[in-house]
Amino acid sequence: MTVEVLRIRDNRKVYDRNVSVVRDSGAETQCSCGCNEKIFLIFLEDATPLWKLNFTHDGEINILPSIWRNVGCKSYFFIRNGRIDWVI
Ligand SMILES: [Zn+2]
Repeated sequence: MTVEVLRIRDNRKVYDRNVSVVRDSGAETQCSCGCNEKIFLIFLEDATPLWKLNFTHDGEINILPSIWRNVGCKSYFFIRNGRIDWVI
């Protein structure tokens, strides 16, 4: 199991973050709103919800679909082009 640690930038310049990625199984990061809650994103085919990871040609990380915390801070954002893009 290889864990890659990738940097993502926050488009609100609140907290840049690391994302720890295991290519075929999942990723872990911390919420960037400031609450610092851990967020787990699962890439396994039979998982619900299921996220997918890919990289831009510049090596920036994309994770789809969006990430919407239904507990706590209720943050809603995308990770696109190595950035946290806030929806709300
Ligand atoms: Zn949060």
